[in-house]
Amino acid sequence: MAEAKTKVVINELIQEEVKSKMSKYNEPSKELKMEKLTIQDLPGVGAATAEKLESAGYRDLMAVAVSTIGELVEAAGVSEPVARKMINAARDSMKMGFETGIEVLKKRESVSKISTGCESFNNLMGGGFETSAITECFGEFGSGKTQIGHLLAVNVLKADPTATVVFIDTENTFRPERIKQFALGAEVDAEDILNRIMVARAYNSDHQMLLTEKIDGLITEQKKNVRLVVVDSLTSHFRAEFIGRGTLAERQQKLNRHMHALAKIANSHNLCVYVTNQVMARPDQFFGDPTASIGGHIVAHASTFRIYLRKGKKGTRVAKLIDAPNLADGECCFEVLEGGLKDVI
Ligand code: ADP
Ligand code: MG
Repeated sequence: MAEAKTKVVINELIQEEVKSKMSKYNEPSKELKMEKLTIQDLPGVGAATAEKLESAGYRDLMAVAVSTIGELVEAAGVSEPVARKMINAARDSMKMGFETGIEVLKKRESVSKISTGCESFNNLMGGGFETSAITECFGEFGSGKTQIGHLLAVNVLKADPTATVVFIDTENTFRPERIKQFALGAEVDAEDILNRIMVARAYNSDHQMLLTEKIDGLITEQKKNVRLVVVDSLTSHFRAEFIGRGTLAERQQKLNRHMHALAKIANSHNLCVYVTNQVMARPDQFFGDPTASIGGHIVAHASTFRIYLRKGKKGTRVAKLIDAPNLADGECCFEVLEGGLKDVI
């Protein structure tokens, strides 16, 4: 009892502190002025360099801020000291420095979770799929990655009647019929749900990246309350377009930019990004798991949560959480049914 009371008091104290800090934090500060800066405002960047950067895919300050010196030297043809200056200036302007634990805590309080509708899966994920984060599911063909994307869409739209879902479909596997079935299972109006899912078929990796850039406009200009972005699959185009070892570095750089763009949307709009990824055979691997996810450490590093999906016994699926900042690794077992997921105990 006494402990519970102390907890309440501490919570109140924290909230007070957060309020006072946030009032300062919310003041129109120089951060707002800075946000209007473009790549051309960076030191050492003239029109020609800006154009080179633009054509290499650097469209805003964030792209510069998160790139490495080597990448910029290559993309813009500038010297290393100039590249360093550009990166530092971009980082300064984005306020990418320190914040207090309280500020971080305040941000974390606005994080919500999308239910999978399956208790053990929700528990594994600390309540559900988090907003302000990228969650990656990787697994072999038929392991249930696309099903989870459809299901999360229905569940978040059910939980929030004002929400919109963006579905970037690269393999032509989005099925409105499947949404209908899950909507029926969740006892919500299928037509309303379908009306609030914006599907875009991505025809190649450039198109996929362009569609990702457009999400910001949906939110800021069209005032859509986007709560979930599904990219299914994240890597199929990249894998198909960049074949052979010589193109691997190029593919990884591009994938890196794509992941950063997704992370930026997730963080700046406190929404959930769900991406799917295939596994490939690793013929050189004689011991341990003979499969690896596509995109290697670039995708792994940029994903906040990573789930390995595999087929279990008798048509079940096993989800293994392998990477999470604040959750224990673990596993759960479920079945994909027509109307949703079901725990297998
Ligand atoms: P992945 O995207 O990982 O390749 P999917 O998400 O497409 O795999 O999963 C396909 C599997 O989902 C099917 O093999 C089947 O087990 C299950 N599934 C698909 N549709 C239904 C349905 N209507 N009812 C029950 N299970 C389904
Ligand atoms: Mg699929």
